[in-house]
Amino acid sequence: MAELTPDSPLATKVVPSPNQGPRKSATAGMPRPSMIILHYTGMDSGVAALQLLTNPLSEVSCHYLVWEDGRIFQLVPEVARAWHAGKSVWKGETDINSHSIGIEIVNGGHRFDLPAYPPQQLEAVKALCLDLMQRHGIQAGHVLAHSDIAPDRKDDPGEHFPWADFADSGIGLWVPPAPLAEGPRYQSGDEGQPVRALQALLAMLGFGLDLTGVFDARTVSVVKAFQRHYRPELVDGIADLSTMMTLKAVLQATKG
Ligand SMILES: [Zn+2]
Repeated sequence: MAELTPDSPLATKVVPSPNQGPRKSATAGMPRPSMIILHYTGMDSGVAALQLLTNPLSEVSCHYLVWEDGRIFQLVPEVARAWHAGKSVWKGETDINSHSIGIEIVNGGHRFDLPAYPPQQLEAVKALCLDLMQRHGIQAGHVLAHSDIAPDRKDDPGEHFPWADFADSGIGLWVPPAPLAEGPRYQSGDEGQPVRALQALLAMLGFGLDLTGVFDARTVSVVKAFQRHYRPELVDGIADLSTMMTLKAVLQATKG
């Protein structure tokens, strides 16, 4: 394999992963990345994660790996399709790998009780996001969590990821969540027009969700994913008043 030159001036090292291919397009031409997907590695060390992400048998990879100390390794060229998203959907697009840059952040995640992201690591991820957004013209609201696009399967980068702080730097979409309060709530098993309306709002934001009018398992997963990202204080899959008000505010912000 030819020596890979880093695409980002922020990458300190290149460790090529064989787990890549050409980006695919439904129409003519090579799709440019229009999304950034953030992940945590969810393993006991960055070394173990790097081994997995470069092992041909694992069939997983990402474009960038960001270590706890802020070092950034590039594993796959930006022009290529890395294998980080898996089965996923956002705004109807199901081949997220062809349309995104994947960033793996070294962090133990839920298996290790959500260790805090060190400040130097977060600064590196921020700088990398801004560099990618600028070079590829990626919109702030198209910086997403893996859990946003695969809510049934994935919890990363987790409710401990500081989306509010990132939004202060112009990365991602964020509004201050509505406080927890008494009021109407919808949950697993509920049916009817309010559930359908909730599903419509979540789908409008981008989540892959059918408007069944039934608060089914998929709806629970999507509500949890929404909470993980936008109302991280309580991730319970119940659409309470705070969740619904926060959802409406986030949608309003997408129009702003
Ligand atoms: Zn992930």
